[in-house]
Amino acid sequence: MATTQSAHHVPENLPTSIRHFIGGQFVDSVDGTTFDVLDPVSNQTYVTAAAGKQADIDLAVAAAKDAFDNGPWPRMLPRARARVLNRIADAVEAQDARLAELECFDTGLPITQALGQAQRAAENFRFFADLIVAQADDTYKVPGRQVNYVNRKPVGVAGLITPWNTPFMLESWKLAPALASGCTVVLKPAEFTPLSASLWAEIFREAGVPDGVFNLVNGLGEEAGDALVKHPDVPLISFTGETTTGQTIYRNCAANLKGMSMELGGKSPAIVFADADLDAAIDSTLFGVFSLNGERCTAGSRILVERSIYDDFCERYAARARNIVVGDPHDPATEVGALVHPEHYEKVMSYVEIGKGEGRLLAGGGRPPGLEAGNYVAPTVFADVAPSARIFQEEIFGPVVAITPFDTDEEALELANGVKYGLAAYLWTSDLTRAHNFAQAIEAGMVWLNSHNVRDLRTPFGGVKASGLGHEGGYRSIDFYTDQQAVHITLGEVHTARFGASTTRP
Ligand code: NAD
Repeated sequence: MATTQSAHHVPENLPTSIRHFIGGQFVDSVDGTTFDVLDPVSNQTYVTAAAGKQADIDLAVAAAKDAFDNGPWPRMLPRARARVLNRIADAVEAQDARLAELECFDTGLPITQALGQAQRAAENFRFFADLIVAQADDTYKVPGRQVNYVNRKPVGVAGLITPWNTPFMLESWKLAPALASGCTVVLKPAEFTPLSASLWAEIFREAGVPDGVFNLVNGLGEEAGDALVKHPDVPLISFTGETTTGQTIYRNCAANLKGMSMELGGKSPAIVFADADLDAAIDSTLFGVFSLNGERCTAGSRILVERSIYDDFCERYAARARNIVVGDPHDPATEVGALVHPEHYEKVMSYVEIGKGEGRLLAGGGRPPGLEAGNYVAPTVFADVAPSARIFQEEIFGPVVAITPFDTDEEALELANGVKYGLAAYLWTSDLTRAHNFAQAIEAGMVWLNSHNVRDLRTPFGGVKASGLGHEGGYRSIDFYTDQQAVHITLGEVHTARFGASTTRP
C-alpha cells in the first residue's frame, strides 16, 4: 500500500462561520442555532454553520418568490441571462484553484480531482448559457384552421437539494439550468460539506444575479430540507442523494403535487468480456470505482468478468489496487483521499467487514497502514462475490469493489440487471454487435462502451429503477425547470356545436 504522509493542509482564510444567504444578505438562523462541520482528515470541527429550519426556509422562499413575481430575472432576454451565466463561469474558472482547495479540505476528495470538479462546474454554466440563446420552441400548423405554439415559462421557485460527494459541481448541475430557465432558487446543500456552497453568493452577486434570485439555506435534511420540500410556494424539487431519502421526498411532494427530479443511488456494473482490450479495461475499471474516493453515484462498483480471463484480470486488478496512493487529500500525488465524515467511514468499514465473509479479499480490507487518524480506507477488492451478497447488492459509496465471474452473455446480463439500481453500466468488448445488443438490453439510464464515465452534457443524465426518476441533461433540464404552455390560435371559423340554440323543445 502506497501512502502519502504529508502534513495536513489547512487552507488560509477559512471562514469563521457559514451563514445562510437570503434576499441578498448573509444571515444567521432565526433561532440562532448552528451545527458543527468537521474536516475529514482531522475529524475536528473547523467551522460552525447556521442550522436552518422552517422559519429560515420561509424567509428564503418568500425572497425567491418576490424575485420571481416582481423581479427582472424571469423576464430578461435569454441573451442577457446568458451573459450573467457566462460571467459566473468566468468567476468559477478564475478561482478554480481556491475552490478545489476548499472542496478538497471539506470533502476529503483528492485535490487533482477536486480541481476537475471545479472546472466542470464552470462548464455547466457555459453550457446552459449557450443552450438558452439557441432555444427554439415548437409551432404547429393545422392548415387553414389553427396555428398553435408553445409558450415556455419558468416554473417559479425551484428547491434544490444536493449531496456531499462532489458538492460544488452537483450544485452547479442544478443551479445552472434552473437559473438559465428564469427560475429563482433556494439551495439546501448537504450538511457534511457546506463550505464551497457558501462561495456561490459572492460569485452570483458579482456576476449580476439580482438579489432574491439565489437563496441558500444550510441545515439538516430532516429540518431545512424537509421544510423546503413541503413548502407550498416551491412548485418543484430537484434532488440528488440516497434512494431512501428520495422515497421520503417523493411522499412529501405528493401533498402539493410538485414536479420532481430524482437522481439517486447506484450499484453500477462494469462488464469485461474476454475480447476486451484488457489493459484499457483495467485502467478504466480502477478509475471507475476508486476515483472520487469511490463516493461516486456512477461508480462501477461491481465488475463482472468473463471466466476465461477472470484469474488474470483479478490478479492484475488487485496488484494495481494495492498500489493506489492513499493519503492527505491536498497532496497532488494522492489518488484516494479521506472519506467525507466519520459516520460515512463507519458505514463503509462495516461493508468491508461484511465483505470478508462474502468474498475473497484481494486488496485492502481496512485502514491503510501509516494513516492512523482520518477517514482513510484502503482501496478494497473482493473477488468471487455471489450475486446474493450484500456487497454485490447494496450501495457502499466508498473505495470497495466486488468482482464476479460469468460464463455466457446471458449470465452476464442477468448479473448486471440483478440489483434494484439502474444508474450506469460500462461494457468492455471489441465485438460491435454484442456491445450494442448488450447495451440496449441493460437496465441502466446510461451506458458507456469501452470507457468509464465521460459525460457529454447534451445527453440524458439519470437512472432507472431505484436510481432515479426523470432525466436531466441538455434540453431535458430546461424542460424540467419550465412549463410548456400550449397557446392555440384560430385562423378560420370555429365549428362549434351550438348548445342552447335550439328553438324547438322536445
Ligand atoms: P442523502 O440522501 O443523505 O442527502 C442528500 C441531501 O438530502 C442532503 O442535502 C440532505 O440534507 C438532504 N435530506 C436528507 N433527508 C431529507 C429529507 N427528509 N427531506 C429533504 N432533504 C433531505 O445523500 P448523501 O449521503 O448526501 O449522498 C450520497 C447519495 O447520493 C448516494 O446514494 C449517491 O449515489 C447519491 N448520488 C446520486 C447522484 C446521481 O446523479 N444519481 C449523484 C451524486 C450522489
